[in-house]
Amino acid sequence: MPDGATTEFPALIVTIDGPAGAGKTTVSRILARRMGYRYVDTGALYRAVALAALEEGIGAEDDEALALLCGRVKLDLVFSIEGSRLLLDGRDITDHIRTRQVTAMASAVSARGPVRQFLLSLQRRLGAEKRVVLEGRDMGTVVFPGADVKFFLEASLAERARRRHAEMDPADRPSIEALTGEIERRDRNDSSRELAPLRPAPDAVHLDATDLSPDEVVSRMLNHIRDNQCSGTFGTGSSDAQ
Ligand code: C5P
Repeated sequence: MPDGATTEFPALIVTIDGPAGAGKTTVSRILARRMGYRYVDTGALYRAVALAALEEGIGAEDDEALALLCGRVKLDLVFSIEGSRLLLDGRDITDHIRTRQVTAMASAVSARGPVRQFLLSLQRRLGAEKRVVLEGRDMGTVVFPGADVKFFLEASLAERARRRHAEMDPADRPSIEALTGEIERRDRNDSSRELAPLRPAPDAVHLDATDLSPDEVVSRMLNHIRDNQCSGTFGTGSSDAQ
């Protein structure tokens, strides 16, 4: 069990959905560590398919080629104390999926049926044993509609762009205005696509992280989980966590 984890939590599936840059990754990592759970970044899986498509010169709208690609690639998540590593056909690609090119391609291929279908079953397998925090766009709506606890994490566009900009390599980052435009475009793609659009599940707890630190967000999440645990009402939550 990771450092700082407790044994107080039963086997649950916790989902965290929300737009790009709201802090899902940082928060999910901390929450999973505090609960003694595994953490799955499902955006990384879309990025892996995007990288594979780029490497093979497959167009983002070529469903036939994308279906063939998904039928032949092997994606593995290897969990360890330090976090997880993502393998594409046995090759560690964890450090190669955060480029702007892969980011744009992931946003495009994530709207395609064969890609979503392929990753749906993989994600369900990754959550099958429970004790897991999964972050993404459709975790609580499509992949795990029956999840025990669902969060929807938001933050203002300006704050999301500011955080993303601060994380990027100063030698190789766009202006904050350009980055704001890229995030807005991704939000629009994610929310307007036909398949599994980004939207909160009806029973998701909404959290606005604009003025909260990651630790403050996690603390609200843990309070909500403990409250539900005490009252035995997982999965029927109200819409706000205080
Ligand atoms: O979360 P991240 O920005 O790494 O995700 C990369 C892309 O994958 C997003 O732009 C989104 O379009 C897509 N995605 C998705 N469904 C998920 C997770 C990510 O469509 N569950």
